[in-house]
Amino acid sequence: MKEKYIMALDQGTTSSRCMIFNRSGEIVSQSQREFTQIYPRPGYVEHDPMEIWGSQIGVAVEAMRRASIDAEEISSIGITNQRETTILWDKNTGLPVYNAIVWQCRRTADLCGRLKAEGLEETVNKKTGLVLDPYFSGTKIKWILDHVDGVREKAKKGEILFGTIDTWLIWNLTAGKSHLTDFTNASRTMVYNIYEKKWDKELLNILSIPERMLPEVMPSKGILAYADQSIFGREIPISGVAGDQQAALFGQGCLSAGMAKNTYGTGCFLLMNTGDKPVQSKNGLITTLAASLEKDVQYALEGSVFTGGAVIQWLRDGLGLISKADETLKYALMTGDTGGVYIVPAFTGLGAPSWDPYARGIITGITRGTGKEHIIRAALESMAYQSMDIIHAMEEDSGIDLKILKADGGASANDFLMGFQADILNKPVIRPQNVETTALGAALLSGLGTGFMNQSHIEKISGESKEFKPDMKEEKRNVLIEGWQEAVKKALCR
Ligand code: ADP
Repeated sequence: MKEKYIMALDQGTTSSRCMIFNRSGEIVSQSQREFTQIYPRPGYVEHDPMEIWGSQIGVAVEAMRRASIDAEEISSIGITNQRETTILWDKNTGLPVYNAIVWQCRRTADLCGRLKAEGLEETVNKKTGLVLDPYFSGTKIKWILDHVDGVREKAKKGEILFGTIDTWLIWNLTAGKSHLTDFTNASRTMVYNIYEKKWDKELLNILSIPERMLPEVMPSKGILAYADQSIFGREIPISGVAGDQQAALFGQGCLSAGMAKNTYGTGCFLLMNTGDKPVQSKNGLITTLAASLEKDVQYALEGSVFTGGAVIQWLRDGLGLISKADETLKYALMTGDTGGVYIVPAFTGLGAPSWDPYARGIITGITRGTGKEHIIRAALESMAYQSMDIIHAMEEDSGIDLKILKADGGASANDFLMGFQADILNKPVIRPQNVETTALGAALLSGLGTGFMNQSHIEKISGESKEFKPDMKEEKRNVLIEGWQEAVKKALCR
């Protein structure tokens, strides 16, 4: 059989990547390209959709070339992507009518404020599982319809299409034949009803978005479309699609209720699979759709730490205490504890469960004996404490006692952080050998979607990992957590 590989397209916020996996889930070739971040005004963030497509197809071809792989050997394509980022394009020309409005972009903050004042927050939450925030696609779609000349009229006539990044890539890969998305990406638009699993007419009405511009929503696993022959020289099935965090959840093997993963990157992204049961959070967490092995969808609770690994970047670039992120390990191990120092890195406010946008960062407990190693250790610990707060909120909301935490992302390479996370949670933390769980998740969905892979492949892949077992006395843990909670109180502005 000639087909040996799966191509995973990983379209991220700062770069487009392609990883080619074999059937054992090993990466045989990869390529990555950064693209332009456009900041037209403070708080505004855009990408050029053509540059996204160009860089994505560029790395796909490059990854094949590097390992001398031809299209005949690619069994299928999986896609994972930065979520919520919004593109509108002309159905006839295929050209974007405006730049992509990136998830980080705050331009619709005022609009969200007005909708909140009208009392719509609860409606949005009840239907979409989200909070009413500029982060999600809905108000970004409205912004383009309202601000770009002639677009609303064309949209009403069915000449404009909306898509998140997955949809845009699929449209281009299929040479304009398929306009579709998957459940996980749809669940981030703020106009998709995650309970009824359909576009929500009331929300579309509120935002004046014509339904005909929206893509068809399909399961994350299974053949959704075929890449056109003109792209790689032969038709290739696109058989796995999921937003980046949901792809990572799948790639980490969190396939049943009560399993959770944390991605320790610039921020930390936590998702807990809650199975068939959508859980409404009382702690400001988000309810979202997850990719499922057996059925069309599962549900997940999601929470994020705004400043995760970014606190380490600050030690490096702001304070000059270290020259590289991995030096933090050496300093953390120099000392048995932080000497009572806590850093609450609320650089941009605090998210769940405190929810205080006005909170600002603080360092507490400094004495004359405080050294650089204590500060560095406290910075690492802050990632673990903030993640713990979210996990406790997830447990409280779902009534599920988390058994283990799966870890990935750049900062998960830090063994001290992983060990401390296990200690402070009193639960084992597991880090897989392959921390590229996002691309792996897309590849697995795609491989399972065509039958090229089966469940035994997944079990083998998730088997190789390092486990960090909790090893801290309860008394000490309680004292440390109490200290953290005191420090958080001091950071709050409310
Ligand atoms: P993103 O995808 O958000 O850009 P990554 O997953 O690449 O982030 O992780 C990078 C982040 O992790 C940076 O904020 C960096 O400071 C932090 N980081 C990387 N390596 C380490 C390490 N060994 N110890 C602690 N933090 C680290």
